[in-house]
Amino acid sequence: MMLYGASALGLAAFGGGAALAKDKEAKAPPKPQNLLSPDAALKRLMEGNSRYVSGVSRRHDFTHEREALVGGQNPYAAVLSCADSRIAPEYAFDSGRGDLFVCRVAGNFAGDETVASMEYTVAVLGTPLILVLGHDNCGAVDATIKSLKDDKPLPGHIPTLVAAIAPSVKAAAQQSGDALENAIRQNVIDNVAKLRSAAPLLNAAAEQGKLKVVGGIYRLRTGTVELLAQS
Ligand SMILES: [Zn+2]
Repeated sequence: MMLYGASALGLAAFGGGAALAKDKEAKAPPKPQNLLSPDAALKRLMEGNSRYVSGVSRRHDFTHEREALVGGQNPYAAVLSCADSRIAPEYAFDSGRGDLFVCRVAGNFAGDETVASMEYTVAVLGTPLILVLGHDNCGAVDATIKSLKDDKPLPGHIPTLVAAIAPSVKAAAQQSGDALENAIRQNVIDNVAKLRSAAPLLNAAAEQGKLKVVGGIYRLRTGTVELLAQS
């Protein structure tokens, strides 16, 4: 039996558009309520955050969801967030399983593996929205600022994170105001731009209106996600 979404990976990768469409017809997506336009997906995401902030999260029937999701997935949004244990996108957007396609890495930047993961969810699973989610007091961004300032490499593999975040830190260095806050925002803006323009899949989906890429900042104190102005 062909699985929804997963079966299309090879077909999509080799340009089998017709076969992909046929495949989708053959098996309905497990969560029909997740078939949304980019704007409707963003609205739903932010409504989930409002519930989380006000402490009225829904009760999720995980037993039922598990059953429905055995055959595939069609998440309505993808989130690129920091690995920071305080963020937890599924909680922050009051979401069930099968709703969010989440990539997490300290400093929420889009490296090659993350771009590829986002290509999979957009091109194969049909996800209409990507949110790049930074957060205040981000340790990865702070460490990058300090490492550049002191001109001192950090131990282990951490310089890999520094190298990825450094361009945004440098770009934000001339801005007035709080250096860390500015760098966190700039890092989100830069990674939104990177994902939106990633050729050949994400840029095409964005140009066709099938995909929206937005940025936001998670506020640790309130749990509120503040969306950045969309360019
Ligand atoms: Zn962080």
